[in-house]
Amino acid sequence: MFEKVLIANRGEIALRINRACHEMGISTVAVHSTADADAMHVRLADESVCIGGATASESYLNIPGIITAAVITNANAIHPGYGFLSESARFASIVEEHGINFIGPTAEHIKLMGDKIASKSKVKELGIPVVPGSDGEITDLTTALKVSEHLGYPVLVKASAGGGGRGMQVVHEKSDLEASISRARAEAKAAFGDDALYLEKFLERPRHIEIQILGDGNNNVIHLGERDCSLQRRHQKVLEEAGCTILDSEERDTIGRKVCQALSKLGYKNAGTIEFLYENGEFYFIEMNTRLQVEHPVTEMVTGLDIVKEQLRIAAGSSLSLSQNEVSYRGHAIECRINAENAADFTPSPGLVKDYHPPGGLGVRVDSGLYAGYRVQPHYDSLVSKLIIHGENRNECVMRLRRALDEYVITGISTTIPLHQEIIAQPEFLAGDYDIHWLAKMVERRTTP
Ligand code: ADP
Repeated sequence: MFEKVLIANRGEIALRINRACHEMGISTVAVHSTADADAMHVRLADESVCIGGATASESYLNIPGIITAAVITNANAIHPGYGFLSESARFASIVEEHGINFIGPTAEHIKLMGDKIASKSKVKELGIPVVPGSDGEITDLTTALKVSEHLGYPVLVKASAGGGGRGMQVVHEKSDLEASISRARAEAKAAFGDDALYLEKFLERPRHIEIQILGDGNNNVIHLGERDCSLQRRHQKVLEEAGCTILDSEERDTIGRKVCQALSKLGYKNAGTIEFLYENGEFYFIEMNTRLQVEHPVTEMVTGLDIVKEQLRIAAGSSLSLSQNEVSYRGHAIECRINAENAADFTPSPGLVKDYHPPGGLGVRVDSGLYAGYRVQPHYDSLVSKLIIHGENRNECVMRLRRALDEYVITGISTTIPLHQEIIAQPEFLAGDYDIHWLAKMVERRTTP
């Protein structure tokens, strides 16, 4: 096992990785920007190195700074967390070229899955069902019109390099196609420096269901069941559940088996998530994330497994610590992403945290770097805490979540705690009857008198 791991991230995920390392007797190195000198991830790590200025490009995306920090501290491995450099194939190969272990998949697999057109065609070839759409990139309007006619409107124009819902345009009728393609192209070019586009059938009422996998790189791949991440706003996940209320264990096993077969043929190594849209009993692949996900704790709560420890073991060359038939599920888990935002209009709310009192008790987990006196920085993602609840069944989980949200005190800044309180009071949520567009409609309903 590694003796020392550098954590190339910040906030709650850096703390999460730090915890797994310490429990395995591994010492840790935090890196941080000048703005994060007082951050909890820096305080709890064994060593820390300031790698640059406040903006992400000066610090958490600064590859030479991170590599230098790893070299001077003698770190054996780097965990990238999520976001920042976690899906940069270039970063993964530079890390390995310096004789340091990258805790994640190979650069080749990161590159493949980062290209949505290439990954879609690859997984289709490996037997995973995909959303009906164009056969690869769309380069001219005539083909785009023909494909859309064939799929039937509405269609979705998507960016091959896409992420975070950017570069996506829904097209309801033929006359809008040309303008939507131009808009998506401009947005993709500006956001990713790559304007390759493709077309998909726009699914009207799907759920977003994803499968967590672990692979050892030697063709052994297991899955840890599904997460339902349908509660989204602007294509960003807000609240996630494990398991999914409309999936039975047979459907879970069938899709899980397909995914494991495909990824074992690929020789996939480390943790990954295969995202699907699910409608009328059918799964349609949308993308694969080659990293730890924000919502991984709900899977940990129902399986009792520590996914970060598994990542560390795999990266250090061990085989998987369990086989598929040793994976079992208990109860239900829900995660609320708590952002430093005004719950009413979602405007950012950075600033000084005055009082901080997290909820506790059985089945309550809080992953957060907040403390009283901490200043939430305006430079980074607004996620400041993840409240993760486990219950013996969904009903107990929701009741526990309600009381935990009521207990949670964060003053000085605004947070999205009231949004979560509102969501879990809705009859559709309580009945488990929602799709990926439901939350936007809930928000719209409250603003229109
Ligand atoms: P990104 O990488 O930008 O997050 P994804 O392909 O993962 O892009 O899609 C993000 C979200 O957009 C999905 O969770 C879903 O809500 C919506 N979406 C993507 N593809 C479709 C589709 N074909 N039909 C309807 N909604 C879609």
